[in-house]
Amino acid sequence: MPEPVVLARAAGGYEARPFEGQGALLCAPAGGYAAPALRAALADAGATVLADMPGDARQQIGIVVMDATGCRAPGDYRALYDAFHPIVRRIARNGRVLLCAPLVEAGGDPVQAAVARGIEGFARSLGKELGRKGVCVNTAYVAADAVDRLAGVVRFFCGKQATYVSGQAVRVTARVAAPQSGAAAQVLAGKMALVTGGARGIGKAIVERLSQEGARVICLDVAGAADELRATCAQFGAVPLTLDITASGAPEQLADFLRSQGGGLDILVHNAGVTRDRTLSNMRPQDWDLVVNINFAAIAAIDSTLLAAGLLRDQGRIVYLSSISGVAGNFGQTNYAATKAALIGYAAAQAPLLAPRGICVNAIAPGFIETAMTAKLPFFTREVGSRLNALMQAGQPRDAAELVAFLSTPGASGISGETVRVCGQGMMGA
Ligand code: NAD
Repeated sequence: MPEPVVLARAAGGYEARPFEGQGALLCAPAGGYAAPALRAALADAGATVLADMPGDARQQIGIVVMDATGCRAPGDYRALYDAFHPIVRRIARNGRVLLCAPLVEAGGDPVQAAVARGIEGFARSLGKELGRKGVCVNTAYVAADAVDRLAGVVRFFCGKQATYVSGQAVRVTARVAAPQSGAAAQVLAGKMALVTGGARGIGKAIVERLSQEGARVICLDVAGAADELRATCAQFGAVPLTLDITASGAPEQLADFLRSQGGGLDILVHNAGVTRDRTLSNMRPQDWDLVVNINFAAIAAIDSTLLAAGLLRDQGRIVYLSSISGVAGNFGQTNYAATKAALIGYAAAQAPLLAPRGICVNAIAPGFIETAMTAKLPFFTREVGSRLNALMQAGQPRDAAELVAFLSTPGASGISGETVRVCGQGMMGA
């Protein structure tokens, strides 16, 4: 097996000018509408924005952004080739590529819609070609009236935080009211957050990231994880809450606890989840029910109670932890995949209902992330599962946490109803 590239990861919190000292190539063929916003976003993040590659052929570039919103007809595809063919070898290790495609709504011109979708296919293929260098390639479908929402998107997808997010496409729209504090804002100071299953694994990393950005975090977990819960809360200054989300009356107990903490939530991260893997013919009914109850029924019940009680504030954020099993299905995971796919549908259906209040609702779908959950897998499954992606390695809890943190920021106000994978561009469900 070839040694995978060492992925660059952010250690601390967001920086005001994360691309300071870096060049960013902005490819802006005629006819697009996103280039000025992209240029401003890159410059605001500290990058030196270049219209052409430096003449010295040995010089590499870490960030490449293309405004492909002008691609409307098949002939326009040539712009992709012309932009990337000459420079593809000069994209640096751990580089970032972001393509902005036009957002063509359902019912729009079919050829324009097809051309836009083709940009995603190009990006996904480029991601597979460059993955061994640790380069992440993503697509943003941008509505013409939502270019002001690109600043946060650029900071995430062109930054270190997107380490394990590649081959993804998100829609950026103006459907959710933008926050007062500005589209690029990444600050979570003054925000109240809840992370379920936060004692360990991905949840713990989410607690860490949200706390790092200044949020006050309530970390919920079961009594059986009390020691880990205490340790996590002590480490990150979070507020512990011991609760089984499936216990009878759990949503009401949670609502009472939130009231005792001074009111509502700004960020709700439904991270708690379990597996009970067996082929369907061998699956016991109690394992079916347990997974459905924890991974989906409890989540829907909590949302319903908190929303009815007015405990999710305007401009709030909800993030569900789905899985690539929910995208692709997985052998031995009929129960788990059903619940994780349900969350994808749930996020998409909740989003328009909560948009008028400025609330964004999204899911993330991790691939193979090294935690206690994946440590339980047999050796061979673990080895294969962690290697079957463009980056040829497993992700870390921090990678998933970075995506959750980004989706929790004011700067992600253009993204709602989406499911974003954090899977190193896994082959499963690709
Ligand atoms: P983990 O098992 O390490 O942590 C899950 C946490 O949830 C634990 O602290 C556990 O005590 C808590 N929990 C379980 N049942 C609960 C309940 N009824 N009430 C409250 N808390 C409860 O798992 P992880 O790998 O960190 O996964 C976190 C989430 O990410 C899960 O939803 C999982 O399905 C999802 N996910 C993980 C991976 C991966 O590769 N690790 C991949 C895809 C999706």
